[in-house]
Amino acid sequence: MRTMDVMHIGIAGAGLLGRLVAWTLAHQGHQVSVFDPAPGPQPLHDGHGAAGFTAAGMLSPLAERETADADLAARGWHAIARWAEIAQALAGRHTPPPHFACLGSLMVAHGPDLGAARRVLARIDGAPLFRTQNTGPAAPQVLDAAGLAELEPCLHSAHGPLHAWLLPGEGHIDTVRMLQCLHADAPGVHWHWSCPVARVAPGTLTLGGEAGNTHRFDWAFDLRGVGARPDVPVRGVRGEMVWLHAPGLGLRRPVRLLHPRHRVYIVPRPGDVVLVGASEIESEDRSPVSLRSAVELMAAAHSVIPDLAEARILRMDSNLRPALPDHRPEVHVEAGLVRINGLYRHGWLLAPSLVDDALAQAGVFH
Ligand SMILES: Cc1cc2nc3c(=O)[nH]c(=O)nc-3n(C[C@H](O)[C@H](O)[C@H](O)COP(=O)(O)OP(=O)(O)OC[C@H]3O[C@@H](n4cnc5c(N)ncnc54)[C@H](O)[C@@H]3O)c2cc1C
Repeated sequence: MRTMDVMHIGIAGAGLLGRLVAWTLAHQGHQVSVFDPAPGPQPLHDGHGAAGFTAAGMLSPLAERETADADLAARGWHAIARWAEIAQALAGRHTPPPHFACLGSLMVAHGPDLGAARRVLARIDGAPLFRTQNTGPAAPQVLDAAGLAELEPCLHSAHGPLHAWLLPGEGHIDTVRMLQCLHADAPGVHWHWSCPVARVAPGTLTLGGEAGNTHRFDWAFDLRGVGARPDVPVRGVRGEMVWLHAPGLGLRRPVRLLHPRHRVYIVPRPGDVVLVGASEIESEDRSPVSLRSAVELMAAAHSVIPDLAEARILRMDSNLRPALPDHRPEVHVEAGLVRINGLYRHGWLLAPSLVDDALAQAGVFH
């Protein structure tokens, strides 16, 4: 890069989008400053801070079609390919590397819930499918009991056979480790912690609190998630997760239980950890996980993985998903200003695609 191309970048928000943009632009040689109200880069798991830390990290272009438009799937496949590149780049430089896997995901339903499952499958029908250079599109596959047992032996039900489908190409990512590595791997970035940004305008970030001063940049990025109000009409949608330690379980793929009342998924993490989530509650309450959510999530997970009975509860976590009124993500670009928000329940699935879009629209980045 020529010296004259180096730009001063100011980023409000050090969550999922903030760290991804900071990492991307720092590696392009720009001078990047990031401002965030959190006291430091590590997750606190106290209901505050970046939703990106709380997320289970399901990368589900197909299964998320249940609650999203068709273009989500296309963006999702693009983003999965980008996460693969990013994870590979980080793996050579950080120990442990951020876990990222694309072994497909499973959708399962108890016998009587086939109707609910078929509604979801009908939504998936017609979505862009996973494809590789060597193979054609890979459609969801129905699994019989033997096929399910071969892929994930721990999945079964005491109440009769499970209906099961494999969604090829879907994946999952260790969100906490990825955010830690993006922070640690961003050369020369100035991280300003305990620094909330009150206003973001073209080329400027105005700090909140006692600081109150305005910083000037070539480009300002508003990546504050739920904290972007009133500049962005975003609201928080509460989600709750349970972290379990289940040695010997051997689960390798994310599992989604299709149920008329509960939407529950179970996601493996390194170290015999599994995450069970997530509630979706129209509330900005950041208080700890409720008894009702904990009971429902764990009972649903136990109903398809009986071996979870002896798992130990490591942590319960809650946070707010940033959602716009239409539940669609928004990329806004004008001279000197980029805002991205509304990633809602698909932030990890969409972030690299939205960031690529925004940087291309700005027209001044590689
Ligand atoms: C329980 C739960 C489960 C989820 N599971 C998944 C999943 O499996 N797959 C998936 O794809 N997505 C999932 N998500 C969604 C995903 O986490 C979000 O969409 C994503 O984190 C949004 O990214 P963001 O960068 O916009 O916001 P965040 O990650 O929330 O980051 C926003 C940052 O802005 C900072 N900030 C706030 N106010 C200010 C201010 N005034 N000034 C400066 N900085 C500020 C915050 O401290 C934070 O660091 C889940 C979310 C939750 C809550």
